[in-house]
Amino acid sequence: MERVFNFSAGPSMLPLPVLERAAAEMVNYGESGMSVAEMSHRSPDFEPIIAAAEADLRKLMNIPDDYAVLFLQGGASTQFAAVPLNLMPAGGKADYVVSGQFSGKAFTEAGKFGDAACIATSKPDGFRYVPHVSASDLRPGTSYLHICFNNTIYGTKYNYIPQTGDVPLVADMSSCILSEPVDVTKFGVIYAGAQKNMAPAGMTLVVVRRDLLGNARPECPTMLDWKTMADNGSMYNTPPCYTIYMAGLVYKWLLDIGGLDEMAKRNREKAALLYGYLDSQNYYIAPVLPGHRSMMNVTFVTGDADLDKKFASEATACGLKNLKGHRSVGGMRASIYNAMPKEGVEKLIAFMEDFAKSNPKK
Ligand SMILES: *Cc1c(COP(=O)(O)O)cnc(C)c1O
Repeated sequence: MERVFNFSAGPSMLPLPVLERAAAEMVNYGESGMSVAEMSHRSPDFEPIIAAAEADLRKLMNIPDDYAVLFLQGGASTQFAAVPLNLMPAGGKADYVVSGQFSGKAFTEAGKFGDAACIATSKPDGFRYVPHVSASDLRPGTSYLHICFNNTIYGTKYNYIPQTGDVPLVADMSSCILSEPVDVTKFGVIYAGAQKNMAPAGMTLVVVRRDLLGNARPECPTMLDWKTMADNGSMYNTPPCYTIYMAGLVYKWLLDIGGLDEMAKRNREKAALLYGYLDSQNYYIAPVLPGHRSMMNVTFVTGDADLDKKFASEATACGLKNLKGHRSVGGMRASIYNAMPKEGVEKLIAFMEDFAKSNPKK
């Protein structure tokens, strides 16, 4: 079986050179005589692996020294609880923008710990765009504003960074991390699960401004307290060692190709090809409002649920896998993360043209 183009929203494709290097090093890493999968996290062999991963990520994202970089477990979903537990005092408030399913889950979770408010949502419009918010929309006394920067399921993204004044901006960047440069200094906290654009599942990245550390609630579980993790270099307990190693290989690959400017150029080109095709025809419908389209997750429908189903299954047979939309919205979704080559997008467009010709709508 040849390798396919895997359009999965996550876990998703990894760059082939990264997989090949991991394969070559699988059984015996460097001079260690063992696999990274077998290594103690406190060993002199692993220490440079995590240090290089952090240093390379700092270089890629231009992360200043006054931000801590944490490699944690639990997925982005665990951060839905960690964010309020670290930032919102007992009896405090937190503001949320609900622009899709994950931001909705984050909002609901925060409500368990205090007065969480949804200050803007695009839910009545089927999450087809991202609401615009600014400092004047925040409630007085709110501890932070939480947003989801790229909405994986609906295929929308922020085309701006909300101005929040002195209120920390917290962003879930699970599905757009490292896809283009972002100004880290505009955010108090950025977090992301690894399995969309960084590594296999199993690691969650948290980038947090250091002045926000040390305010966790007394009842915050030790494992969710960012300060504990920062003080221990992400090694309070056993970190996700192998995933950190794989993420480190991805960071090196990104640096090798020219960093996030080059990555963004390639991603913009891929997204322009696919949206360009969608805009040029009327067989497929792209529901997201122009100006709010995700560069990573491209959603479209035929308008006929049976045809959508047929599309996904015939695409699979052509080596274009996982194009079925999220189970909650249906239709199709092509996730074209960093590791998806342009060739995969071209092949998808050719398939879409053929499918439209062979399956006229009644
Ligand atoms: C996938 C995803 C999540 C959930 O991530 P887990 O690591 O599975 O908890 C949260 N937010 C966004 C934006 C996602 O894309």
